Amino acid sequence: MPDRFSFALHATDGKARTGLISTPRGDIRTPAFMPVGTAATVKAMMPESVAATGADILLGNTYHLMLRPGAERIDRLGGLHRFMNWSGPILTDSGGFQVMSLSDLRKLTEAGVTFRSHVDGSRHELSPERSMEIQKLLGSDIVMCFDECPALPAEEKVVANSMRLSMRWAERSKAAFGDRPGHALFGIQQGGVTQDLRAESAEKLKEIGFDGYAIGGLAVGEGQEAMFGVLDYAPDMLPEDRPRYLMGVGKPDDIVGAVKRGVDMMDCVLPTRSGRTGQAWTRRGPVALKNARHADDPRPLDEDCTCPACRNYSRAYLHHVFRSGEMISAMLLTWHNLHYYQDLMANIRAAITAGQFDAFEAEFHAMRAEGDIERL
Ligand SMILES: [Zn+2]
Repeated sequence: MPDRFSFALHATDGKARTGLISTPRGDIRTPAFMPVGTAATVKAMMPESVAATGADILLGNTYHLMLRPGAERIDRLGGLHRFMNWSGPILTDSGGFQVMSLSDLRKLTEAGVTFRSHVDGSRHELSPERSMEIQKLLGSDIVMCFDECPALPAEEKVVANSMRLSMRWAERSKAAFGDRPGHALFGIQQGGVTQDLRAESAEKLKEIGFDGYAIGGLAVGEGQEAMFGVLDYAPDMLPEDRPRYLMGVGKPDDIVGAVKRGVDMMDCVLPTRSGRTGQAWTRRGPVALKNARHADDPRPLDEDCTCPACRNYSRAYLHHVFRSGEMISAMLLTWHNLHYYQDLMANIRAAITAGQFDAFEAEFHAMRAEGDIERL
């Protein structure tokens, strides 16, 4: 195992890239999709099952973990990897985004944010310095800068002020992170859907200097067309020799479109959350298992999928356990969804390596356009 964090680009096809991030806790093949383990668990999955789907890295949420069970407690118990029994790399977000979306009575100042916990109403503070401290206590391998972003649509002046505050916080995050060999700190580009602001943000981040660069402030209500509009130029503003991480994305077609535009890493709760609401993601698009059409269907969800849900169970069974509110419904569908996402990433990486990304993309969309298999 290497003792430092590094990134090597192996092949490109158009703007799409494939490569390898090396960390002391293991390698991350890119483009990578990171399952979300919000509260020190990928919901409904054992960590070894998550690994079996092909995931190289998990995402943990600073906001949730600092409130419950607490970062100092996780540190005393040996760190997040040991606590949740995941030995591979972990990326943690900074807490900034979730403070804005989940907590009550927020107060935002130049220093940071004070807020009340959505769990028990207790008072907390987050600042660039405290976020770096918490992510260090957790033992995160990839640490995110503390930032702030408004929901879109927002007035350009609001977006500009917010972005400039985030850039001042990025500088403080870098100083507080210090020199930690083997651990990486990523800066986060902001600027909403305004190209000049995205450029200003990228220049500032490059001046500070980070191990990787995230594109933040997207997938917050602007829609796919506006998001792709930003991704047509935003990744190009970031250094070519560092990983580029698009935060909080997305649906399978968002992922393919982001990779096409030069993104290397993504995360989203969609495959796990959908798994708990009876929605499966397949090569033929989304399938709602709750629908009565599956009640007598002995066929697998996807006959070409090698996950346990598709190998060993029928659509009729998946329909039954979902309708009955059985826990195995969430377990099987989450497994399938994560397996499908990792399969998608593996196919994307193979297509880029082979210089066949355009053909892959055409086939991906053609298959989805066909829709689910005919009902029996
Ligand atoms: Zn499956």
